[in-house]
Amino acid sequence: MRCDLCGRFHVHDISFNELFEKPALCPTCEKRIAIEKHMQVIPVSGGTIEYHTLHENNAFIRSNELYLDHQYAHLFRMALNRKNEDAVILFLNLREYETMGRWLPYANMDSVMMLFGQYPLDLVSKLDNR
Ligand SMILES: [Zn+2]
Repeated sequence: MRCDLCGRFHVHDISFNELFEKPALCPTCEKRIAIEKHMQVIPVSGGTIEYHTLHENNAFIRSNELYLDHQYAHLFRMALNRKNEDAVILFLNLREYETMGRWLPYANMDSVMMLFGQYPLDLVSKLDNR
């Protein structure tokens, strides 16, 4: 089978359960996209920002961001399982990050803002520049 991400051929023993759903990734790429949840808490005036991410920020994850969209289900689940009803919940990808200076001043920073993303971006520098 050919890996969807790196394009290398790989051999994989297929069980009866996987007969009609063959593994799309080689074992190396499976390890590279394995979820390792991270959380960063950033204090801001009047509240905090909790920034949850699924991966380290590395070139492999950034270049395969669209392929990893199915992993957003983990982020949705994390957001739904939080009991903080006052929290502002936003999903942060590169586009929201780049335009942060335009929308962040209008955000209510008096409670908890929860940001979710695939990989961590440098929020502290964005917060310092607002
Ligand atoms: Zn691969």
